[in-house]
Amino acid sequence: DMKLMRTAKRILEKLESHGYEAYMVGGCVRDFLLKLPVQDIDICTSARPEQVMNMFERTVPTGLKHGTVTVVEAGIPFEVTTFRTEQGYSDYRRPDWVHFVDSLRQDLSRRDFTINAMAMDRFGRIYDYFDGQRDLKRKVIRTVGEPEDRFEEDALRMFRAVHFSGQLGFSVEPEVLNAIQNQRQLLEKVARERITQEFQKLMQAPFVEHGLRTLISSRIATDIPPFCYIQEGLNEASRYSMQGLTEPERWALLLCHVPGEHRMQFLRGLRLTKKFVKKVKRLLDILDSYESIVQAEQIPAYDLICLGEEDAVSLLKLNQLRFTQSLDINVEQQVKAVLKQLPIRHPQELCVNGKDLQTFLNRPPGPWIQKALNRLAKAVVEGKVANDPEQIRAYVMEDEHDE
Ligand code: ATP
Ligand code: MG
Repeated sequence: DMKLMRTAKRILEKLESHGYEAYMVGGCVRDFLLKLPVQDIDICTSARPEQVMNMFERTVPTGLKHGTVTVVEAGIPFEVTTFRTEQGYSDYRRPDWVHFVDSLRQDLSRRDFTINAMAMDRFGRIYDYFDGQRDLKRKVIRTVGEPEDRFEEDALRMFRAVHFSGQLGFSVEPEVLNAIQNQRQLLEKVARERITQEFQKLMQAPFVEHGLRTLISSRIATDIPPFCYIQEGLNEASRYSMQGLTEPERWALLLCHVPGEHRMQFLRGLRLTKKFVKKVKRLLDILDSYESIVQAEQIPAYDLICLGEEDAVSLLKLNQLRFTQSLDINVEQQVKAVLKQLPIRHPQELCVNGKDLQTFLNRPPGPWIQKALNRLAKAVVEGKVANDPEQIRAYVMEDEHDE
């Protein structure tokens, strides 16, 4: 954190030594004032992109059209953006063109919320033209300028308000919330990729339940797809504390309260990776299959090894939250302890394979093999036979006569 700040200050110094203005800006200033860890530092400057590129050894032209150059110093990337305004939001999405401007104030005035519209120079002086510091103290999200105008320029900002509410635990200024309620239809014109990004950030946020309640009160979920499909989920899930949950667990908690067909409509309506959707769906299937289980010992042994440690832990955490309203911090150790007592921890740890079974029984290959292996794994984990090739052979041949 110190290194990040020191390196940023060196960049500001260099820009200033060449006669330009330069400041840290946006999220990093907000988080610095809130004493939160600063992830990355954005810089704004009066220098043009070409000038920035000439000044530093390692640069990447990440967004020249928008005035952005990435400067890499001490191995850390910094986005350095020329003071600019954005104009001509003809499609409620993106500015058609950017216009470089001369003053910090103009640059700050294009930013979405007062708490995101502050700058800091290399001496730590804060430039706050829109009362961002006051709003940080009041814990409110307020647009720079009239919310109606700002949301018309870029409708995504409505969803960003929801995201920051969950990120910081802030409320949305009533006037701003009112504007979102009235203009929420504009969100339908925003690219789903951008909405997905903000929703994912919300779901990862420390005050996610608070953010979900903001989403409810924004009325976005009453009729704007895909959020209209998860209304029940929002009402239910926002009552739990999602603190100790991983991201897929949070999604599963949200969606387990949503009827089946709506779950998929929601997930398909966002731009998520196949892998993530698969993970969430698996958790949902597990929750549907093991409704009343809240302790590791309650999971049948064979089911436990099929679930695996990770999913078993998720199942218990989610069911404890849902049915006992509190989360046992030792779930992971409990699952580990139960697994440790079992002769095998995974169906694949069985000491015979399909080939062995064919030899034992002198049968041609077929779908019977997988079924027999599963039955064997169940018998081993339930202590009916030891995980030993000879004993398994004897057991299998006996088993065969029983059928
Ligand atoms: P996070 O911690 O989520 O990254 P951030 O404040 O850094 O928060 P970014 O999305 O990275 O948010 O954007 C950086 C800055 O750019 C914001 O602080 C804000 O000043 C400005 N900004 C970003 N998106 C918009 C937008 N849609 N409209 C106006 N200003 C925006
Ligand atoms: Mg950022």
